[in-house]
Amino acid sequence: MTTGGKPLTTILDARGAASERPLFGLWNEELSEALQEFGLLRYRIRQLETALYRQKVAEIGEVTTWPRELREKVAAAGFRVGLPEIVETFRSGDGTERYLIAGNDGQTVETVWMPEGDGGEEGDSASNSDGGDAESKKNWSRATICVSSQIGCAVNCQFCLTAKLGIIRNLTAGEIAGQVAAVLKRQEAEPGRDRINLVFMGMGEPFLNYDAFMAAVRLLAGPMEIPESRMTVSTSGIVPGILRFAQEKVRPKLAISLNAPNDEVREGIMPVTRKWSIAEVMDAVRQVPLRQRERITFEYVLLGGVNDRLEHADEVVRLVRRAQIPAKVNLIAWNPGPGIPFTMPQAEDVARFQERLREQGVPAFVRRPRGRDIYAACGQLKKTGSQG
Ligand code: SF4
Repeated sequence: MTTGGKPLTTILDARGAASERPLFGLWNEELSEALQEFGLLRYRIRQLETALYRQKVAEIGEVTTWPRELREKVAAAGFRVGLPEIVETFRSGDGTERYLIAGNDGQTVETVWMPEGDGGEEGDSASNSDGGDAESKKNWSRATICVSSQIGCAVNCQFCLTAKLGIIRNLTAGEIAGQVAAVLKRQEAEPGRDRINLVFMGMGEPFLNYDAFMAAVRLLAGPMEIPESRMTVSTSGIVPGILRFAQEKVRPKLAISLNAPNDEVREGIMPVTRKWSIAEVMDAVRQVPLRQRERITFEYVLLGGVNDRLEHADEVVRLVRRAQIPAKVNLIAWNPGPGIPFTMPQAEDVARFQERLREQGVPAFVRRPRGRDIYAACGQLKKTGSQG
């Protein structure tokens, strides 16, 4: 299998050597510090930030606001832009694209582009794959990018394909924000002009890579100009992470991957519940000071016969009421994956579950599956393609 037309080993070698001192991911004082030896004035750093985060240049040679001599000196010292690179693209019949994006050591993560956000469009049909350089047609007015925070994941949710990988490594802040930059570049999208939402719901548990994740958020909300109000992070319920998050000045909206009405059912599908019970998670969530009109989202993946009965819906209502948290529930019909021993819920059970929540005053929405045919839907991200 090849990636982007080149054998994988070539990419690994080239990137391993080329990314010794990546600049993408640094800004402000971090950038001044990294480039200290050149004694750059503040305006030169700002020019570099514009080139890195607005123009998304691939090489230092493209920072045309800098004199050629300076570009050459910085490159000769071993610095590289280090913008993560899309090495493979899978395109769904519904417009969703799933990418394999190579980080600093050439290892790939998955990132998903969903034009028209979660609203979705008709069609779940043909899919195809290309080397990542196909032309994109701009036929969307808003879009959501689903971003990964780790390669693999240690949380081991039983319904999730990513869990099968185990944890391989954490991503750096540059690799997390870089996924967004690579996708924006491919789609010729510009925050500010285009309505771009980010969901940190790809591979990994963001709160188990907390510092890098939050550094990426600051970078995205800062020089990359994506408002924090358009970002949502989903956690499986890592209580210390939620408590730290509650102290942040700049932070995305919070979603809790709940998936069960009580600890007993949750333990069976999310072993993390043995460490932090639902009640402990709720206590932590209550510490997060909400902005005006902000609500906590509870994600609820419906698994046929496991957590999709009406009595489960009633329990969820009681749970949300007891927690006294402004909340909404996002229902997701489980997406099948090879080797995962669950069944999809019946469409009428999903509808009944939603109705039951709504009639008791809990706002509930059914998320339409996106890119199911290319394994881009929720819980389906695994390095399929080049290495899978
Ligand atoms: S659902 Fe999220 S937290 Fe759970 S195993 Fe998958 S990637 Fe990790």
